[in-house]
Amino acid sequence: MKGTRKMAEIQIKNVAKKFGAYQALHDINLTIADQEFMVLLGASGCGKTTLLRIICGLETATEGEVWIGGRRVDHLAPKDRGIAMVFQNYAVFPHLTVFENIGFGLRMQKLPDDEVRRRVERVASLMHIEMLLKRYSGELSGGQRQRVAVARALAMEPDVILMDEPLSNLDALLRMEMRAELKGVLAESKTTAVYVTHDQVEAMSMADRISVMHQGEIVQAASPIEVYRNPAAEFVASFIGNPPMNFLRAEAAGDGKWSVAGNVIDGPRYGKSPLQFAIRPEDMQPAGDGLEAKVKIVEPLGAHLLVTCEVNGTLFRAVLDSDMEVKRGDMLTLAPQTDRVRWFDPETTLAVA
Ligand code: ATP
Repeated sequence: MKGTRKMAEIQIKNVAKKFGAYQALHDINLTIADQEFMVLLGASGCGKTTLLRIICGLETATEGEVWIGGRRVDHLAPKDRGIAMVFQNYAVFPHLTVFENIGFGLRMQKLPDDEVRRRVERVASLMHIEMLLKRYSGELSGGQRQRVAVARALAMEPDVILMDEPLSNLDALLRMEMRAELKGVLAESKTTAVYVTHDQVEAMSMADRISVMHQGEIVQAASPIEVYRNPAAEFVASFIGNPPMNFLRAEAAGDGKWSVAGNVIDGPRYGKSPLQFAIRPEDMQPAGDGLEAKVKIVEPLGAHLLVTCEVNGTLFRAVLDSDMEVKRGDMLTLAPQTDRVRWFDPETTLAVA
């Protein structure tokens, strides 16, 4: 789509941000590869938006540097950084039509009319808003306006696009459709994307890599499957996955063996005890031998059965086959799939190899 494009790797080096005495970001180091789709994921207030605003220049870092395409940009004005942005509040101009809104930046660049028309029609069709082109943006629904804002950014054919919850106002079905389309469009246009969301399903489905943020720090930056299967810290294990990972206390029981709710299980050789034993709800199966679980709640979810039980006084969830007959009060014996078990040091909360 683009002619000559610059390599658009983003490097965030030792970036910290303070608002008065409040430290919103601590020493962030992150490299986002050219053409990568990076998602910043975390709970409200963890610093995602602040980091995005520092990349685009709407916020100044207290410390550190931002580089884009091998060029230091943190002293440049936002308009000089070669970035397109889509915000949560999608600032579209209400008194302009959708066509004029999407073509706004292109007109500023003094592109010829037929090029403006070609680009506007193309992105409008991608975003399923071609039938709205003549409408005034002020008359649109929130979800429609949000799509206009995304289309306007895409029309610029930027090397880097930053998006802050760009699908948050869409209904569930449209949101699911748009996330796949948007991912496709960005891959096709070879755009480097940084995408903020607190929706882990969106993050898992769209990202090449996810940076999981917590209290102003990046706890883990890795592919979605890596973050899911090998969480680097307890926070990631309990934040990613719905329901989250189960945890049980594990006491050392001799050379690489651990006692978990009365069962002796193979684990890491580690100098400290106790550890946290962790397993995903879908990685437990009923078996002759395993953890004794008392069933508290059974939720049939169609494809699966979500069973909440108690193991050794700790709440524990298992996702079982929907054909299983389980009811409240039953005792189950659940065997963890051994290669899926993870271990955490409760003092550092970090994963133990
Ligand atoms: P959300 O998902 O709710 O948008 P977020 O992860 O994007 O959250 P930020 O908006 O980056 O979080 O905010 C991080 C922290 O910094 C919050 O505690 C917020 O209150 C604080 N903060 C953000 N902007 C300012 C500001 N201009 N002045 C003071 N504090 C701020």
